[in-house]
Amino acid sequence: MDSPFLLPSNLDLELLDYELYPDRIDLQVISTAASTCCPVCGHLSHKIHSCYHRIIHDLPSGGRRVQLHLQVRKYFCKNTNCQRKIFTERFVTGLASYARRFERLNHVLTGIGLESGGNPSTRQARHFSVKVSASTVLRLIKKCIMPSITAPKIIGVDDYAFKKGRKYGTVIVDLETHRVIDLLPDREVKTLSTWLLEHPSIEIVSRDRSNTYAAAITEACPQAEQIADRWHILKNLSETVERFLDTQRVEIKETALKLSQQQQQKSVNEGITAGMSETPPIESQLQKPVFVRKYQDNFVKVKELQSKGYSIRKIATTLKMSRRTVAKYWNRIEFVPKASRKRSNILDFEAYLQQRWQQGQQSAKALYEEISDKGFTYSQATVYNMVRKYPKSVLEPLPTSVKAAYYSSKQLSIWLGMYQNDWEDYMPIEFLRKLLDENPLIKAVREIALEFRQLMKAKQGDQLQDWCNKALESGVESLKGFVRGIRQDFKAIFQAFTSEWSNGQVEGQVNRLKNIKRQMYGRASFELLRKRVILMGNPNFHQM
Ligand SMILES: [Zn+2]
Repeated sequence: MDSPFLLPSNLDLELLDYELYPDRIDLQVISTAASTCCPVCGHLSHKIHSCYHRIIHDLPSGGRRVQLHLQVRKYFCKNTNCQRKIFTERFVTGLASYARRFERLNHVLTGIGLESGGNPSTRQARHFSVKVSASTVLRLIKKCIMPSITAPKIIGVDDYAFKKGRKYGTVIVDLETHRVIDLLPDREVKTLSTWLLEHPSIEIVSRDRSNTYAAAITEACPQAEQIADRWHILKNLSETVERFLDTQRVEIKETALKLSQQQQQKSVNEGITAGMSETPPIESQLQKPVFVRKYQDNFVKVKELQSKGYSIRKIATTLKMSRRTVAKYWNRIEFVPKASRKRSNILDFEAYLQQRWQQGQQSAKALYEEISDKGFTYSQATVYNMVRKYPKSVLEPLPTSVKAAYYSSKQLSIWLGMYQNDWEDYMPIEFLRKLLDENPLIKAVREIALEFRQLMKAKQGDQLQDWCNKALESGVESLKGFVRGIRQDFKAIFQAFTSEWSNGQVEGQVNRLKNIKRQMYGRASFELLRKRVILMGNPNFHQM
């Protein structure tokens, strides 16, 4: 029976008969090869011993799955020196020995498996009438041969979390072909340097700012140009500004208070809120909290004794402070208040505190315990700062706090990192303007940071050194730290300012990898993940 469309054309098969069922087609097929070679000695044999039936699955046809009843022959090996006496005929291509599926079906299933993983592939295959288990699909993926890597020149490396916080790996992307070329099981210096030594064609490596990758690249291919990732540099800059703003919390709060006082005053003048004619007493709130003043006094005392030539140990004994604190102040030029990143929710309890105060409960400790039960999450010192301005006499009216808007240092560092033209309506523009007008130091740091971004955008690497000097002159501790970081990795950061290559697409590939990993519910082995990440979307995969 002629069957050009049903059977793989590269096999010597003949269709004898077929039966049609609602869900499948059964084909009776025989092999037509006149002779075959012994798999052990390679001797050609014509002498048939016997035959048996093997069921083989093929690609579906017309919505029905296709099942072959293949008559396979067994041959005698005529070579008297061969250990094997009888063997089953082999097909050179298209059907592996012992296989139950044609290779063309395996190829399709592997492709689906690479795209979707084990279980989803099983469900998808059902839609086109193929029954396959998830473990079979995974086995097919594992049998894929990795494509050989052809002399990459420009690569990007980055780490990815295999188990966040615990286990990390390294992804290597060819920046010219935009493809992941390899995945490494960890992010150790040795692993990456070994890989790099196997690929001596590399000329440019884009990387994050970790010392690990820098060390591996310097060790394995010192001739390669290293480029620090621009995104990471800007992230570090943003964190630097954030740390600086942490030291400016008192000033930031002051501006916020003044602004809300102004706004309240404006409302009163416009007669919108009648009965609020009294100006809220904000002076008391603007004082630095007691503990900050105490620390500042200590700082001044330490500096005084230091200038008189006292040792750290002696200062600690004299001032009854810990040596560690003295040592901390020892190297600092200016006092940096310890900033809390948390915001207290004390204002939510103001009405309650005032009520209790007038009822006669005037102990900060007792009040603290009372509101702690009601959901207050901050310290007793915060309660004390709130109630210490209340008059002892219950007859006098209590001052009300001006409710100042709160913005975290992180949020502010993002807004201040933007140009004024880019500020949008949802942002507190009035507050930001006032903050810059009233705080020359914040304004100066913002300008330095903006200049850095501008230089990077305009690729003016030649001005990086000048910028560093300027940042150092500002005297701001966190900026000094940032400059130290730049100087340690100057070459690579200079390249980030001048090179056309960046780690942008590597970040994209890491996102793709995360997606694939999550599809497998975190149960993927490294080998399986590696195959899927590298082979997905590559139509030319081969199997062992
Ligand atoms: Zn043989």
